[in-house]
Amino acid sequence: MTKSEIAEVAREVTVCELCRLCGSRTNAVPGEGPSRPKLMLIGEAPGRKEDATGRPFVGQAGRILDGALAKAGLKREEVFITSVVKCRPPDNREPKPDEVEACRRYLERQVDALRPRVVVLLGRVAESALTGSKGGLRRGDLGFYRGASLYATYHPAVALHGRPQLLDSLVADLRAAAKAASARPSGP
Ligand code: URA
Ligand code: SF4
Repeated sequence: MTKSEIAEVAREVTVCELCRLCGSRTNAVPGEGPSRPKLMLIGEAPGRKEDATGRPFVGQAGRILDGALAKAGLKREEVFITSVVKCRPPDNREPKPDEVEACRRYLERQVDALRPRVVVLLGRVAESALTGSKGGLRRGDLGFYRGASLYATYHPAVALHGRPQLLDSLVADLRAAAKAASARPSGP
């Protein structure tokens, strides 16, 4: 049981000043979910509503994610949801490499504490941050990350940017990740 480590990370994140994003945040968004999730989802960065509430994926992209999770047979309460950086970048710009590096320590501690069977990267920014890839988004099974099976798929916000058909792929990828998580025996 590592709930206290998750709570400790959340506490540290709310007062963190390790990168410039602390200067413009209203609330840091550490992430939330069960202490032993089968699945952990990692997005890009908090947006406006997340910054206002301190909770992950509660805005427009969150509504799309909730729908995609339901279609994939998953409940939001079953998954731990966070992002690569915990504070909102100004005007929702992409997080800069030094911000991703500064915030990485928290993400790593969360993965180590939660020991999810499967980690799902939502979008190119998360995929690049965790795999080091420099090109476009690579979807599907990407191997392992800190003991978890690693999958990547589209960020739910793609459906807001004129490509709603990609939602079907997002659902299919989430379903595949959930299946992999169910097939895998639970870790130590
Ligand atoms: N997009 C993200 O990547 N994370 C959030 O929490 C909200 C939108
Ligand atoms: Fe700290 Fe991460 Fe927020 Fe930067 S984004 S201030 S590293 S919690």
